[in-house]
Amino acid sequence: AAKAAGKGTWRVFSDDMEIRIQERARLQADLRAALKARDGLFVFYQPIIDAGSKTITSREALVRWHHPQRGWISPAEFVPIAEQSGLIDQLGEFVLNTACNDAAGWEDGARVAVNVSAAQLGKGTIAPAVLEALSRSGLSPGRLEIEVTETAMLDDENGGIGDLRRIRDMGVRVALDDFGTGYSSLTHLRAFPFDKIKIDGSFVRDAVERPESAAVVRAIADLGKRLGVTTVAEGVETEAHLNRVLEEGCSEVQGYFYGRPAPSDRDAATVMELNRAAARLAAV
Ligand code: C2E
Ligand code: MG
Ligand code: MG
Ligand code: MG
Repeated sequence: AAKAAGKGTWRVFSDDMEIRIQERARLQADLRAALKARDGLFVFYQPIIDAGSKTITSREALVRWHHPQRGWISPAEFVPIAEQSGLIDQLGEFVLNTACNDAAGWEDGARVAVNVSAAQLGKGTIAPAVLEALSRSGLSPGRLEIEVTETAMLDDENGGIGDLRRIRDMGVRVALDDFGTGYSSLTHLRAFPFDKIKIDGSFVRDAVERPESAAVVRAIADLGKRLGVTTVAEGVETEAHLNRVLEEGCSEVQGYFYGRPAPSDRDAATVMELNRAAARLAAV
């Protein structure tokens, strides 16, 4: 509770913080329930396009949560809550299993890319979970990619690298996500033989107007070529963004220009109904 004797502003600030802490605890409990009941959690897919052939090479699996009261909540909000409350392994397994099952049914044979959080690494549990998802779905390892962010990585000998190695040894590709935004990006490239580098969307969108950002994109694309590693430009929203990143030599492209994250065919009707219900409420 706020200090009763404090200044008014103090009181408001403290109450505000308290509310935020309560909201967080509430969301954590709700997420636990959603995972348990398998309710309100979805995996959406966004295409990743080959720069040369313009065909879909893979689709990124992006988790979505429709909260019974709050509606859609961004993974940027609930993934950190899952990480801090020990729910990330369960959430991660849900995404991994759903993504492998869905991809096994794709007629175009594209790969599926699954995000794995730092909190899932270094415990020796992720490689068995990947193996299990592959064998249950029948998806071949060559059609799975695991994305890890820079911050997720290798800051110590916590075994994160060992986990990634075990995954890569199965024939699963491993991508370094959001490249360029964290510290010591280049150290990460030396620490592990990544198959793919994903250039953060902030550089990509900036590259049309700022030569400095264009130079960064080109430098990463060149680096990828020398390392024999695929480079993906994230966050391509417009034709101008697309032309720029193609000119700088990126090998693959992802962003709203080619397609927004969308539900699987299995979930499409349910998601549309949730959105309709929300629109009805808003109209009242
Ligand atoms: P990320 O892995 O870097 O995923 C790319 C994010 O950029 C996604 O946001 C995607 O919807 C968004 N995006 C794609 N194209 C564009 C574009 O053209 N413009 C803009 N402005 N944004 C674009 P999303 O789905 O909200 O996910 C945010 C982050 O949450 C992800 O970043 C990832 O770090 C995390 N995340 C999402 N799903 C999972 C998951 O299943 N597990 C874990 N551990 N993290 C996840
Ligand atoms: Mg990603
Ligand atoms: Mg990214
Ligand atoms: Mg990200």
